[in-house]
Amino acid sequence: MRSPFSSNKRTAPSVFPENAATPTSKAAMGEMACCAPCGYLYDPSFGDPDGGIAPGTPFEDVPKDWACPKCGARKQDFFTLTPDR
Ligand SMILES: [Zn+2]
Repeated sequence: MRSPFSSNKRTAPSVFPENAATPTSKAAMGEMACCAPCGYLYDPSFGDPDGGIAPGTPFEDVPKDWACPKCGARKQDFFTLTPDR
């Protein structure tokens, strides 16, 4: 038997902008990380271009030898901020 709702049509967006940054959705791609010593905020959507971290890099993918651009603290001195939805 057929129900009118059985046709599960999904309309996927035909064009998905890969390069479009979405600054409005904060922490959409990962947790922000805060430098404990100086309070510098690492935003995954911005990365740290000066430190060689491309925008869109989650903090967990930041190399261990990366250092805080402000105070030089190591990655282990950062703590992640869980976005409160
Ligand atoms: Zn710092």
